[in-house]
Amino acid sequence: MTITGSLLIAGAEKRGSKGEFFGIEAATGKPLPVSFGGASAADVEEAARIAWEAFDVYREIDLEPRAAFLEAIAEEIDGVGDELFVRAMAETGLPRGRLDGERARTTGQLRLFAKEVRGGRFQELRFDAGDPLRKPVPKPDLRLRNIPVGPVAVFGASNFPLAFSVAGGDTASALAAGCPVIVKAHSAHPGTSEIVGRAVQKAVANAGLPAGTFALLFDTGFEVGQALVADPRIRAVGFTGSRRGGTALMKIASERKQPIPVYAEMSSINPVILFPAALASRAEEIASSFVGSLALGAGQFCTNPGLILAVDDEGLDAFIARTRDLLPDVAAQTMLTGSIAKAFRDGVGRLEKHPEVKLVANGKHGGEFEGTAALFETTATAFLEHRELQDEVFGAAGLVVRCKDVAELEKVLDGLEGQLTVALHVAAEDEETARRFVPRLEMLAGRLLLNGFGTGVEVSPAMVHGGPYPATADGRSTSVGTLAIYRFLRPVSYQDFGEALLPAALRPK
Ligand code: NAP
Repeated sequence: MTITGSLLIAGAEKRGSKGEFFGIEAATGKPLPVSFGGASAADVEEAARIAWEAFDVYREIDLEPRAAFLEAIAEEIDGVGDELFVRAMAETGLPRGRLDGERARTTGQLRLFAKEVRGGRFQELRFDAGDPLRKPVPKPDLRLRNIPVGPVAVFGASNFPLAFSVAGGDTASALAAGCPVIVKAHSAHPGTSEIVGRAVQKAVANAGLPAGTFALLFDTGFEVGQALVADPRIRAVGFTGSRRGGTALMKIASERKQPIPVYAEMSSINPVILFPAALASRAEEIASSFVGSLALGAGQFCTNPGLILAVDDEGLDAFIARTRDLLPDVAAQTMLTGSIAKAFRDGVGRLEKHPEVKLVANGKHGGEFEGTAALFETTATAFLEHRELQDEVFGAAGLVVRCKDVAELEKVLDGLEGQLTVALHVAAEDEETARRFVPRLEMLAGRLLLNGFGTGVEVSPAMVHGGPYPATADGRSTSVGTLAIYRFLRPVSYQDFGEALLPAALRPK
């Protein structure tokens, strides 16, 4: 498979005519071979038009061929050779092992959604028989099913070039729901996107599906993404990225003649609460797993543990002392893009200069494109006064908040914005207090973890990777796990429909 820098539209490749850009080598900031052409307004128009045409065909195909199509995409991606890893490593700076795991996760997700489609439960078929003799009024015959919402625009994520990009979780769940997908590739990994896009395009053709079922567009600015969200034929959006980007797209979507949902996963600092007895019994062990989680993948995970809350006591001192021992050995790591590396440095710089914040320790220093891990501490009083201390610093940076007592810790929790995860480290003696916390933690985050850290998101029917705003745009949903399919479905009820007009799934057996 060769990278040509082409848009993938209508089952064909096409050179984008709106400017050009290059993939950038994450470790050096230098351009990689092959220039990519940006999509024009006419390309967006064409992709949306044929996605809309494809929708009526794709949404009505039986569940079995739809499931087989998802499996075929997985097979095509599994069949891509080493060039996928070579290009993805260059574009993202992520190591081969991580990308191997990510491909397995990507194809595993597609296969899991295939199973979900075959099971058919997501259709939510409901039958409520009528009763013409009911008094005082006859009862209507009601049948319900979920239908797909329509074509979906997916914005690939910078931090998951495979599992949350072209054929990642958003695409897999939208296709599983019966929605055609138009992907706006992330500019951080266009070559990786094209390789995967070609695999999806091949699966569409081999399955005999309409060519509009899938398209991949490149953008030299923000116009393509914004035009997609504004297009009346697009009916939902999947996005992972910054709060600024996510809220810009939410605004466009809400100002349309027909507003649409934007499922944006944005910023989260993933609080970790260390309870006193847990710290008294195993502060060093917790510190060691914390440093591992903080530094994993240069901290470029949405579930990175950025905030540690604990009561100020000897256990917390022992925790901090251990992180001070461990952090200096943490190697600097290449970050996904030069701008993410710069944003990380700026965020760390703000913490370093903050009058109420003290540096605990740094990791090893690196070059311009690398991130150096950093841990800071502050008091609960300062944290409550300075709202900016809640801002996500995307990368391996954390802030420990020393609370006078449990009551002050609860106050800090009550002042937090919505989160993807919250973790509790608890010993038996802490359980009563921890139990009391649970209802407020449910209101705070989409996933609660006990004695662990949020990095490492299992793709599972019982996973929630979501949470109240600003963790996501809509806390009633998840972007990981099979429940993600419901973002792209809408219930329709059929009242007193005779057999002739009812959709097949709702006809009497
Ligand atoms: P981003 O800047 O929000 O970009 C995400 C995608 O949205 C890209 O395709 C980007 O286009 C597009 N985009 C951004 N702003 C837009 C706008 N106003 N209108 C239309 N499209 C827009 O996020 P990123 O590049 O992945 O990373 C930047 C920062 O996002 C990080 O430093 C971090 O703070 C945050 N982030 C958070 C998470 C999380 O899960 N919490 C994950 C990744 C990143 P281009 O490709 O042209 O840039």
